[in-house]
Amino acid sequence: MFFLMQGDYVWLDLKTGREFVVPVGAVVKLCDSGQIQVLDDEGREHWIFPQNATNIKPMHPTSIHGVEDMIRLGDLNEAGILRNLLIRYNEHVIYTYTGSILVAVNPYQLLPIYTPDQIRLYTNRKIGEMPPHIFAIADNCYFNMQRNNKDQCCIISGESGAGKTESTKLILQFLAAISGQHSWIEQQVLEATPILEAFGNAKTIRNDNSSRFGKYIDIHFNKRGAIEGAKIEQYLLEKSRVCRQAADERNYHIFYCMLKGMGPEMKAKLGLGLARDYCYLTAGNCTECDGRDDLADYSSILSAMKVLMFSETENVEISKLLAAILHMGNLRFEARTYDNLDACVVVRSPDLVTAASLMEVCLDIFSSSNSIDGGESPQISLLTLCFIMQGIYGRLFVWIVDKINAAIYRPPSCESSVIRRSIGLLDIFGFENFIVNSFEQLCINFANENLQQFFVRHVFKLEQEEYNLEDINWQHIEFTDNQEALDMIANKPMNIISLIDEESKFPKGTDATMLYKLNSQHKLNTNYIPPKNSYETQFGIQHFAGVVHYESRGFLEKNRDSLHTDIIQLVHSSKNKFIKQIFQADVAMGVETRKRSPTLSSQFKRSLEMLMRTLSVCQPFFVRCIKPNEFKKPLLFDRELCIRQLRYSGMMETIRIRRAGYPIRYSFAEFVDRYRVLMPGIKPAHIQDDLKGTCQQIVSARLGKQEDWQIGKTKIFLKDHHDMQLEIERDKA
Ligand code: ATP
Ligand code: MG
Repeated sequence: MFFLMQGDYVWLDLKTGREFVVPVGAVVKLCDSGQIQVLDDEGREHWIFPQNATNIKPMHPTSIHGVEDMIRLGDLNEAGILRNLLIRYNEHVIYTYTGSILVAVNPYQLLPIYTPDQIRLYTNRKIGEMPPHIFAIADNCYFNMQRNNKDQCCIISGESGAGKTESTKLILQFLAAISGQHSWIEQQVLEATPILEAFGNAKTIRNDNSSRFGKYIDIHFNKRGAIEGAKIEQYLLEKSRVCRQAADERNYHIFYCMLKGMGPEMKAKLGLGLARDYCYLTAGNCTECDGRDDLADYSSILSAMKVLMFSETENVEISKLLAAILHMGNLRFEARTYDNLDACVVVRSPDLVTAASLMEVCLDIFSSSNSIDGGESPQISLLTLCFIMQGIYGRLFVWIVDKINAAIYRPPSCESSVIRRSIGLLDIFGFENFIVNSFEQLCINFANENLQQFFVRHVFKLEQEEYNLEDINWQHIEFTDNQEALDMIANKPMNIISLIDEESKFPKGTDATMLYKLNSQHKLNTNYIPPKNSYETQFGIQHFAGVVHYESRGFLEKNRDSLHTDIIQLVHSSKNKFIKQIFQADVAMGVETRKRSPTLSSQFKRSLEMLMRTLSVCQPFFVRCIKPNEFKKPLLFDRELCIRQLRYSGMMETIRIRRAGYPIRYSFAEFVDRYRVLMPGIKPAHIQDDLKGTCQQIVSARLGKQEDWQIGKTKIFLKDHHDMQLEIERDKA
């Protein structure tokens, strides 16, 4: 057994056997006749007999005070990673590298690290030259884009509330600052965010500003490196929130902001009252959100809309539509019996009158609609109404994103398409696993499987393949590949998505027949968990981040996403031009084409495929956001919660490969041309006879022979810190 003294650090394994518990760090407080007292990182004291203790181990010096880059950790295990993040977090240091991958732990408080001074400090620096920071990632994206003349992307992942959207905004802020033109277009790109958040974010129990849609912002730069435009792609807005919210959750921010911020005159015109007056805003029993100022936000939204060229008329039309949705949500239905037939009718009310006038439809709008007026029951009528309203909001959201793009997107001119480069920022919903999971969760988790595969391919597969091809010394590193799960969900013939789709198009298809087909096709697949018995309506999928059980009831309806005939009727009967405009594409389609229009999952799959294609031609950066606790509280670090997130994102394996691997590589010619300035007398690559030899000569002289770099068949392989060292010397040369 090793000898311990006061002040020594140890790992203490509490042997709870729980899945997400790892040894905790501890310091020796007292040594007393063979016994020692240690104080663990959580502030708990333990008495131990070190002579016969199997549950303590000495701590590596790198773990005692922490390291900036986790590939330098001596204790390369989950406990080591966790403690490293913890002790930094306790000192308000939220960023840590794993090679060039950034881990960001949400501080849940404003830290003074995002000032213009900080932006200057991080501009034009190498990764590793300054402490880890989101700005360093942004700066590197920008630098790489220019140095390598290649598009870059930054994939920001993490659970709800982990800090993806905040990170995205910080990167945008940095890029706008170093683009440095103070131009109209820079401002427009920045001001798109408050609008998107107003219409697409909401308070949930996990996050007061939860993005309920995914987005990819592609920022375009001209050859001088100035922002020239941008394009926003949006994915899968959660429409059901428009009519229903879970306990303690709210509808989209815009509704509350409008009711707080709109002037009394306009409110009177729209017949609007307070948030508590509307069923669609009160289902979660929560109309206020601590820490958000709906009133102030409303004026920011309006000014952002001005910057993005929303006209006064358009703003009024948007408000009218939002108000109409709220009034509609208050409609009531009554069951009546006509000629012995049960039917229900909408109750005449001021809300009905206002809604009809705002949407410019006549009062008996619903009289021709069998499913609303004259529906089977008040519940069904309410549900149908709800589908219509969320359909309208969904189209409004798409229109708003298109409107923003119309302001910020400049198609490349012939000349600039050659030299224009871009940086894409992906802020997409993290993996979801709730008590009840539905079709939306399947789509979201499917997207995450794709991103994980992209990460795995980039970090593990392609990397090791290249080492083998180049024939360098390399010990293969095992990793968890999620390709099989992904194949089962979307790639192989008869995959889950295609079976759901097929059943959605089949007129007699039901959720039950769909489940039957899923079971018969996949029951033997280890990534599929069939229902336990024939009454059970849930099936499970083993995702890379854990098993998720999906409730199959409601799948087909959601996937068909058929705009109710009722909506189209309503749009037809409306005299309002704006409504007609946002439904233009749908109305243009005949009823028959509409029935055959693509399902939600096939649309989503297509946009994901496009996204993955875009990402695959970019040089990627990864930011892994970690949520330290479920309470949105500063300085509270829930070890189990963090370990779960680290484990599912493959952090351990990533550190191992990053430590062993060579993330920087150059072809011999690239290397010679870039670094020949470091050695006098070396000729440019195109007039060299022995490129490989010259590379070897430069690298041995500048980095040293004992350093861990390797020369392959066509390329030279370096560590991140070698790259930094060479770049610094090159700057000096
Ligand atoms: P969702 O998936 O629900 O959209 P998210 O990952 O986008 O979640 P954010 O909205 O970015 O999460 O962050 C949640 C909250 O955490 C923010 O509103 C903010 O209060 C806090 N937060 C996140 N990152 C930071 C940061 N760098 N500094 C200070 N606070 C932060
Ligand atoms: Mg978000």
